[in-house]
Amino acid sequence: MNPDKGLSPETIAVTAGRPASGPDSSLNPPISLNSTFVAGGAVGYGRYGNETWLALEEAISAFEGGRTLAYSSGMAAVTAVFSTLPVGAKVIASHEGYSGTMTLLNNFAKANRLKVSFVSVTNTSEVINELPGATLLWIESPTNPGLEIADLPALIKAAKEKGVTVAVDNTFATALSQKPLALGADIVMNSVTKYLAGHSDVVLGSLSTEDAAQFKTLEDARKFNGSIPGPFEAWLALRGIRTFPLRFQKSCENALELAKRLSAHPLVRNVRYPGLPTDSQHEKAKALMKSFGAIVSFEYIGDAASTDKVCASSKIVTFATSLGGVESLWERRRRWPIESASVPETLIRLSVGIESVEDLWADIDSALHAAK
Ligand SMILES: *Cc1c(COP(=O)(O)O)cnc(C)c1O
Repeated sequence: MNPDKGLSPETIAVTAGRPASGPDSSLNPPISLNSTFVAGGAVGYGRYGNETWLALEEAISAFEGGRTLAYSSGMAAVTAVFSTLPVGAKVIASHEGYSGTMTLLNNFAKANRLKVSFVSVTNTSEVINELPGATLLWIESPTNPGLEIADLPALIKAAKEKGVTVAVDNTFATALSQKPLALGADIVMNSVTKYLAGHSDVVLGSLSTEDAAQFKTLEDARKFNGSIPGPFEAWLALRGIRTFPLRFQKSCENALELAKRLSAHPLVRNVRYPGLPTDSQHEKAKALMKSFGAIVSFEYIGDAASTDKVCASSKIVTFATSLGGVESLWERRRRWPIESASVPETLIRLSVGIESVEDLWADIDSALHAAK
């Protein structure tokens, strides 16, 4: 069941994806463990549909709009989109995008499956110049890990005028900050692993779209590529969504406070957080987004080895990749060979969780000093 339109996100999070209500009906959907179903119905087989997926999909649709398909991971969702493009299609994507997406696109380009132009998605005219002849524009905003803001409304409008399909990876911003489908995007992708599920205990992805033909194409990609979610993972993600707006709000508040304090720290430079009034992206972010997210990037004043030591010295902030969980995580992004070469060697990406901001700050400050 989907809640009425017009409810606030906190209410949507609690009410979406519940079974129909009646005496003794379950509050929560069952974890449906079935590889097949009795013949004669709409689903028929466990790779085609599952009521636990459906409940999760309804909840994500209640945030993003359109209809949603859950996939076995964020990358499975990304792959589903690219797998539906004709051979040789031109894809425009961010040169500072999610490293998995950039690697996948590079691999498709090397195999002559797709033509890829990597652009700076924050430079609107650069993107518009690439549109002629393109099939798909893949946008991420804020960018990862530079946290720069793309002008989504302008990019989506220009792409639609040229007949280019637009997909937006909304993982960093979430539907609480921006709703790409409402701006005219064709597809929204989420790594459900991150803020939606929120507890660093599942890997899942989703695609949402308002276009019925697009939905069918992507549903077929899931059915026949076989990239289906596990019912238990879908159930955990839906359980996580119940507190998604609360968690996200607290993480955003913590992120702003930590960004302010990091900006004044003698061992830190170039703090990036779109919510900081002094940030180069602040005015754009304020105009385009409802909130500024909970990722903060900054450079440690030292070398790669001492930056790794900072990340390994914290006691509350965990040295780990990923983001969007209740627990704060950080890492030096360039420790990954697939990270963009334009990212500074000493850049630390901090995913801010919901712990006490004072405890986080004491931990971060002592880790920064421990590496000197
Ligand atoms: C994590 C992430 C992905 C990939 O999602 P998985 O669930 O790890 O497969 C894609 N895009 C962004 C922005 C991400 O942070």
